Amino acid sequence: MKINFLGAAQNVTGSKHLINVQGYNLLLDCGMYQGKREESNRQNSTLPFLATDINAVILSHAHLDHCGTLPILVKQGFAGKIYCTPATAEIARYILLDAAEIQKQDCLYFNSHLQEGENEIFPIYTADDVQKVIECFEPIEYFRNTNQWTTLNENIRFKLYDAGHILGSSIIFLEITEGATIKTLAFTGDLGRERSPILCSPEYVTENVQTLIAECTYGDRNHRPLSDATSDFKNVINAVIKTKGKIILPAFSLGRTQEIIYTLHKLLDEKLIPSLPIYVDSPLAENITEIFPKFIKDFDKDFWKDFGNRGESPFSLKNLTYTKSSEESKALNNMKGPLIIISASGMCEGGRVLHHLKNAIENPQNIILLVGYQAENTLGRKLQDGISPVKIYGKSYNVKAQIKTLNEFSAHADQNDLLLYISNVKNLQKIFLVHTEPSQSTAFKAILEKTYPSLPIEIPNMGDSFEV
Ligand SMILES: [Zn+2]
Repeated sequence: MKINFLGAAQNVTGSKHLINVQGYNLLLDCGMYQGKREESNRQNSTLPFLATDINAVILSHAHLDHCGTLPILVKQGFAGKIYCTPATAEIARYILLDAAEIQKQDCLYFNSHLQEGENEIFPIYTADDVQKVIECFEPIEYFRNTNQWTTLNENIRFKLYDAGHILGSSIIFLEITEGATIKTLAFTGDLGRERSPILCSPEYVTENVQTLIAECTYGDRNHRPLSDATSDFKNVINAVIKTKGKIILPAFSLGRTQEIIYTLHKLLDEKLIPSLPIYVDSPLAENITEIFPKFIKDFDKDFWKDFGNRGESPFSLKNLTYTKSSEESKALNNMKGPLIIISASGMCEGGRVLHHLKNAIENPQNIILLVGYQAENTLGRKLQDGISPVKIYGKSYNVKAQIKTLNEFSAHADQNDLLLYISNVKNLQKIFLVHTEPSQSTAFKAILEKTYPSLPIEIPNMGDSFEV
């Protein structure tokens, strides 16, 4: 069996790992590279393999950096099945349609503001291409719900464990027969935190895992407990109540937005913050939030204690408005604070949040609250790094609003979570660290080497292949 690392290698976006087993090509994830516009377009419009050579895809979860180039794959001739959990299939549909719409709108905006010497740009895929992806989805339940493996051919079968990262996220466990030898491989996808809101903690694989492909987004750091973040979140809200400003909270429409609403609901129930207007300005977030109740069987004990047993939804509360039209969205510009606007994208790379940032960034009364990982070269990272001025839609803005970061809401395991997970992997013989920036993986590798001196640890580069 050969593993080819074709994305999220020394990088946190564009997840793509190609497994070759005796002529069968299985792709784990087909994610979008996210970074500067030109580089992203170049990396995402071509694939590092022939789409027609891929026999099947297993998708770990519905984040764009894991599923975002599936439409390119299908457009270029892939005709196999895309296996994923039922929740992932439902969510990915909205995520991909949204990505197509954002590209369309960005191109329209960019092309109508062309400077001399600039060329028109075009979307790399459309809603029609996404429709063809949806037809390829083959929903597979978590193994715990069915006790059934899924067979790809006479040599390969797999099952899905709960990764606890976002709704529907999975750890992919493969059992591969090569002659008389049985080989096992697990891919963590993105691993959730222990005890994050709503979702269960990552499930351990019950079998031996000879080879593990593990994410290590936060390999060099530990998040503070979620209770500290909740307390800081409360303080940020109370601060903006005093200044009568706005909190602009860029958040992934999927996962982070629902966790934030859940946390706000609890803070309000416990009377730790006064009631204030909260706007979720992302039609995508509303669509995804509507999917959550279908999968409450997969929610954690705290959900049942806080809301579920009372038959209450954590996602609807007084003063919470899901804005729909762009007119409603624009109307938020003229509203007086204090108020909270939760909007996408989470790394400030597109979507409605850019309009809110334009409107709020030069006013010191406002707070921009970053609650997720901000990849290199994104506007979110620039804000986090204190860079000013910043460009939004080609125009320069001085950053006068306060910038706050609460990494604890991250959907990613921290160093302790990763170490705990790895310590529960049975019979591990080799580990590959992916979905990481070099500073994180180097630090994490050093810790693993101390704990497991005889374990081979690789940090693959883009394009590297390994025989295992
Ligand atoms: Zn993810």
